[in-house]
Amino acid sequence: YSAKADRAGVAVYEEVRDGHGRHRLEDVAQLRRALVRGELVLHYQPKLALPTGVIDGVEALVRWQHPTRGLLYPDAFIELAESAGLMAELTRQVLDMSLAQRRAWADQGRDLTMAVNVSPSNLVDEDFPDEVAAVLARHGQPADRLVLEVTESLLMEDRERAVRVLGRLREAGVGVAIDDYGTGYSSLAYLAALPVTELKLDRTFVAALTGSPRAESIVTSTLQLAHALGLVLVAEGAEDQDTVDALAGLGCDLVQGYHLSRPLPPDQLWSWLDARTAVRS
Ligand code: C2E
Ligand code: MG
Ligand code: MG
Ligand code: MG
Repeated sequence: YSAKADRAGVAVYEEVRDGHGRHRLEDVAQLRRALVRGELVLHYQPKLALPTGVIDGVEALVRWQHPTRGLLYPDAFIELAESAGLMAELTRQVLDMSLAQRRAWADQGRDLTMAVNVSPSNLVDEDFPDEVAAVLARHGQPADRLVLEVTESLLMEDRERAVRVLGRLREAGVGVAIDDYGTGYSSLAYLAALPVTELKLDRTFVAALTGSPRAESIVTSTLQLAHALGLVLVAEGAEDQDTVDALAGLGCDLVQGYHLSRPLPPDQLWSWLDARTAVRS
């Protein structure tokens, strides 16, 4: 019974955590301190453009370098950040670090699209588009090389406001992806009206792809929908070459997954890109 699966939220979360003897208040204090001390780090996972084989961009995935508990993954603290009101600051730091990194890479000759995950509270915050613009300006980065990834369920919560905020981000030139696509309940009419640029098909469909005609139909129809709406289709969670080949055969635009690379610290991602370029040229 996880806090993530439960929309009632905080009460259940506290119950679970208390059962393990660690109190939520203590966790919140630690996370707050982590934000002050700069304990968050980003790993980057590449996105491969299927027709060309070019690495088109990366997705920034946050980790917490905890002083005693080691490297913590988002499942351990994203819900907490959201429920404790710390998400605005977390997202600000992630945007800041990722765009500083994008700039450093661009200066060294690699012009990568940077994808950043955002949370429900970001999208109902009317100041968010201005904050994004400010971070872009501070790092001198073009808006059209930033993509914000939002989950479908997130968009259902306060859809009018979310659509307004997304619309302003789109007007500024920022890309918007629907993450984990296919796991939520959006109607097609709603989806078609959203100001987005990408659909990221959830990895459950991608994992089932090889050897399953049903999964193949889902990918094919999602691809048709995406292209009919003028959207890029990204497949997440490709874990083997057969899956990548199948996605390429079906006409998927971009692919991400462990088969290509796990999310890596920035220096390791850079080496990975170098090694790949050396092999290909
Ligand atoms: P997501 O945005 O859907 O990211 C994809 C997740 O799947 C990542 O887990 C990634 O490491 C993992 N993944 C990638 N390729 C594969 C694969 O081939 N197989 C499998 N089994 N998994 C794969 P991670 O890094 O633990 O992130 C989990 C979720 O946490 C993300 O899902 C995103 O919703 C959230 N998250 C991550 N970073 C941030 C952030 O900076 N801000 C916010 N608000 N949420 C974040
Ligand atoms: Mg994502
Ligand atoms: Mg995803
Ligand atoms: Mg996912």
